[in-house]
Amino acid sequence: ADIDLYQERIRKLKLPAHAEKKIGEEMDKLAGLEHGSPEYTVTRNYLDWLTSLPWGRHTKDKLNLERARKILDHDHDGLDDVKERIVEFLAVGALKGEVAGSILLLVGPPGVGKTSIGRSVANALGRKFYRFSVGGMRDEAEIKGHRRTYIGAMPGKFIQAIKEVESENPVIMLDEVDKIGASYQGDPASALLEVLDPEQNHEFLDHYLDVRFDLSKTLFICTANQLDTIPGPLLDRMETIRLSGYLTEEKLAIAKHHLWPKQLKKAGLSRGQANITDGAIRKIIDGYAREAGVRQLEQNLGKVVRKAAVQIVRKQADKVHVTAADLERLLDQPAYVREKPVSGIGVVTGLAWTALGGATLTIEATKVHTLNRGFKLTGKLGEVMRESAEIAYSYVSSHLKTFKGDPKFFDAAFVHLHVPEGATPKDGPSAGITMATALLSLARNEKIGRPLAMTGELTLTGQVLAIGGVREKVIAAKQVGIHELILPEANQPDFERLPDYVKDGLTAHFVRHYKDVAKVVF
Ligand code: ATP
Ligand code: MG
Repeated sequence: ADIDLYQERIRKLKLPAHAEKKIGEEMDKLAGLEHGSPEYTVTRNYLDWLTSLPWGRHTKDKLNLERARKILDHDHDGLDDVKERIVEFLAVGALKGEVAGSILLLVGPPGVGKTSIGRSVANALGRKFYRFSVGGMRDEAEIKGHRRTYIGAMPGKFIQAIKEVESENPVIMLDEVDKIGASYQGDPASALLEVLDPEQNHEFLDHYLDVRFDLSKTLFICTANQLDTIPGPLLDRMETIRLSGYLTEEKLAIAKHHLWPKQLKKAGLSRGQANITDGAIRKIIDGYAREAGVRQLEQNLGKVVRKAAVQIVRKQADKVHVTAADLERLLDQPAYVREKPVSGIGVVTGLAWTALGGATLTIEATKVHTLNRGFKLTGKLGEVMRESAEIAYSYVSSHLKTFKGDPKFFDAAFVHLHVPEGATPKDGPSAGITMATALLSLARNEKIGRPLAMTGELTLTGQVLAIGGVREKVIAAKQVGIHELILPEANQPDFERLPDYVKDGLTAHFVRHYKDVAKVVF
């Protein structure tokens, strides 16, 4: 009876010769085995897998660019540059007649819409979508399967995905490629490379399946929070698209058009039954969900919706109207209070970039005592950042005359430089000019009287070098109400490339040497 089932399945498939041969052999073998013997079960399971893969079955790509853009626009607010890149990518596919052979990598902080964009791409193409995380994968077998001789052996994730979607050419999304692990169980990263590489994946060999399967028609979309930890050979083969986080106005639009309606639907409420004011949404963004993306914002809106649902179910109201004043009752105390931009002698605002998005970073320098000369650093700084603090100290203390600081200041000053928050690890050279400015502010006994943020690597000769994450940093500054920035001249092109709504209302000074920084600041 089992054999009949397999024959029935095979009839509907377009098996390649090598698979047909293997299946034939296994069916012959099965016929000769005793029902219920362990070997029978193993062979049956194996045949089950072989015959339930979608050999020769695929969906036809829809490569209509207008339609694709419409779908992307319908599902997402903003993200113009990202959508544009995706449409370009599809246009190339339209010319070639297929989108095979490239791997997209969507990189950005949590909750900025990477998964969601990937899903839309699958929709736009009319392809099946399957997603799984490779984060923390330590065993190569999760990717390439176990040999059949193992008890309970199974194919790897990719063959499982293909079976599940019943199509040879789905969109497979791999989350967290930046967190793939290496371990004693083989090397999952290089196994992954084998799967993704168009040179190799047309004859992908899963250890369990033991028959080559063509994965080259699959479109792979990877997501990651950062690029640094993605194995180089993998990164080289991917087309990177950055998503960098939203401004308050964008989050507001996303919340109104997407997140709130989605949460209402989830709770079974109609739009007429609950609404929320812009003011309330802004207050959530500012007080409860300070993040680059919109994930916490969505969670908080979900909480509000559920509270509203309770009121409606209990018949305490027919219709709930949520205003900013209701939030403390519905969501407890805000998690964040608006900090006034700090100012004071020796205090300077820097800009940092992390896998979670951009952030402002306060640098504090104080004179601890005058017993001897010296310098100490705290704030969980990495080695590169410590070195860059030393450079700042050497540079500033040897150029006090040029910069109108007290020339004797560092001769009898034990200086302490701290970067809060003390528990968050920080690293990188990009706070060089910020630390120098904190020290100079101290030596000049003069504070920076206005909201101003800066970033740039400093060399011993005072050159200011390019830094990374311009976009994230600029957005972070704007979020806290800082509209004047100092950036390395080498980063000017990055700044110019930003969309106008990000640049609007900003003054950016581009500097090449620390002298330029001092001129702007003091
Ligand atoms: P992670 O790195 O944590 O996986 P992610 O970038 O994949 O995050 P998503 O899960 O895609 O984030 O997005 C979080 C939520 O925000 C989803 O509900 C998504 O639909 C929504 N969202 C994000 N960006 C937008 C946008 N531009 N327009 C509409 N909805 C958005
Ligand atoms: Mg995701």
